[in-house]
Amino acid sequence: MGEDCVFCKIVAGEIPADRVYEDELAVAFKDLNPSAPHHVLIVPREHTASVNEVAEDNRAVIGRLLMAAGKAAQKLGIDQSGYRCVINTNQDAGQEVFHVHVHMLGGRKFGWPPG
Ligand code: 5GP
Ligand code: ZN
Repeated sequence: MGEDCVFCKIVAGEIPADRVYEDELAVAFKDLNPSAPHHVLIVPREHTASVNEVAEDNRAVIGRLLMAAGKAAQKLGIDQSGYRCVINTNQDAGQEVFHVHVHMLGGRKFGWPPG
């Protein structure tokens, strides 16, 4: 599972990425095509396709993704000014990479509701 997955390759170090934070469960790195002054992706080390595949045995990692997002925001100095965490799932949300990831965006104001 995950053999052709770009985020598995980033986790394995086979594709370079600008890492902001990492621990034994999660890796946070800068998005290649940022949608905000700060745009970080936080992924579990273990391949999980989307939120639809989150189950009892891997639910702990999702909490860890949010913790890592907070740590990355702190590191980038945007934890007090604010940031947005987003998880896209499947077609209607525009998910392009099927290795579950949290987008952590900051450094500008965001509209609500999102587009
Ligand atoms: P999605 O649309 O699946 O929620 O978001 C995928 C994100 O991954 C996009 O924002 C895209 O710019 C980013 N991305 C895709 N390929 C790479 C890559 O090889 N490296 C990095 N750092 N980001 C990537
Ligand atoms: Zn993967």
